[in-house]
Amino acid sequence: MEDIYCQGCGAAIQTANPDEVGFTPESALIKEIVLCQRCFKLKHYNEIQDVSVTDDDFLKMVSEIRDVEGLVVHLIDIFDVNGSMIQSLARIIGDKPIILVGNKVDLLPKSTNKQKLINWLKKSAKDAGIKVKDVYLISSIKGHGMDELKEAIETMRDNQDVYVVGTTNVGKSTFINRLIQQSTGDKNVITTSYFPGTTLGFIEIPLDDHSVLIDTPGIVNKQQMAHYVSKNDLKIITPSKEIKPRVFQLNNQQTLFFGGLGRIDFIKGDKQSFVCYFSNHLSIHRTKLENAGKLYEEHVGELLSPPDETTRTTLPGLVQSTFKIREEKMDVVFPGLGWVMIPEVNTTVVVHSPRTVAVSIRPSLI
Ligand code: GDP
Repeated sequence: MEDIYCQGCGAAIQTANPDEVGFTPESALIKEIVLCQRCFKLKHYNEIQDVSVTDDDFLKMVSEIRDVEGLVVHLIDIFDVNGSMIQSLARIIGDKPIILVGNKVDLLPKSTNKQKLINWLKKSAKDAGIKVKDVYLISSIKGHGMDELKEAIETMRDNQDVYVVGTTNVGKSTFINRLIQQSTGDKNVITTSYFPGTTLGFIEIPLDDHSVLIDTPGIVNKQQMAHYVSKNDLKIITPSKEIKPRVFQLNNQQTLFFGGLGRIDFIKGDKQSFVCYFSNHLSIHRTKLENAGKLYEEHVGELLSPPDETTRTTLPGLVQSTFKIREEKMDVVFPGLGWVMIPEVNTTVVVHSPRTVAVSIRPSLI
């Protein structure tokens, strides 16, 4: 096939993979103006669809705009901060200012201390080497926080373009679709490529007569839990409504299983209540520590589910890390799954989680 480029985003057209940049069904190739499916949907339905690229490809793509001025809006999923923070961001975007946006706040219990969450996001960004100008919390689905964010973007972009970046599954399409609806109504928003002939796969949405908001493809981050679980399991572990804390009074030498995807062993400390914040659909199972290994071996995928059969073929094995809790009220965070609040000091826990997904602790958000 001779190289054809999408007239919307400039991506090289391909007919093999619908989830990747430039996909077009073969039947659409005969048209005079060829658009990739993503641009086609935007043009005809005013709707953004996510496509994905690997971190390496993103690096190549973005290096072409390294020296262009603009504001970067980095969207992350507050349920998977570790998995949705783009570690290489600072390196690849040059010195553009960055706003960090935590999406999906509608899922947090009402009692969540938003300021503590913001502080933690700032710290997580700093640990990843990303300098952020500011942090905002939003729900792209419910619209919470969108007005404040839009104002901040308007102020900070200083008449420059805005690049929206994020890993897959953080809600980037939902976010951009809401922006499109709010700012353009039913108007046809697609513009011709800003970077003709390149394969950036960037989509532009006009902000005013001179500047645009650019949707970049979602990056596939191997640390994201979403990449290791089947579609069905993803539905179970992703909260769909505000999460309800579940409280377990535990003695030491007891274990909690979160489906079969995570586990916490209470090794040392006084009897206390562990408060668990996970999708309401994920089952939590309590057992004696001495029985936990056997229970997992015999019942993973049944009593302890997810993982379903598909997930079990892709999920990395569980590994352990030990945490000694030295301050009151700390959260043990399982990225992509949820967290457990441990109320008391001098508590030791051993946490089991998939090898690629790094568990961490933070001061409790509640
Ligand atoms: P993308 O891959 O980054 O484009 O993500 P999508 O926009 O497709 O969203 C991924 C999943 O997250 C979908 O199931 C969305 O419904 C969900 N989602 C996106 N934004 C929000 C939000 O603000 N709150 C909640 N609860 N879910 C969201």
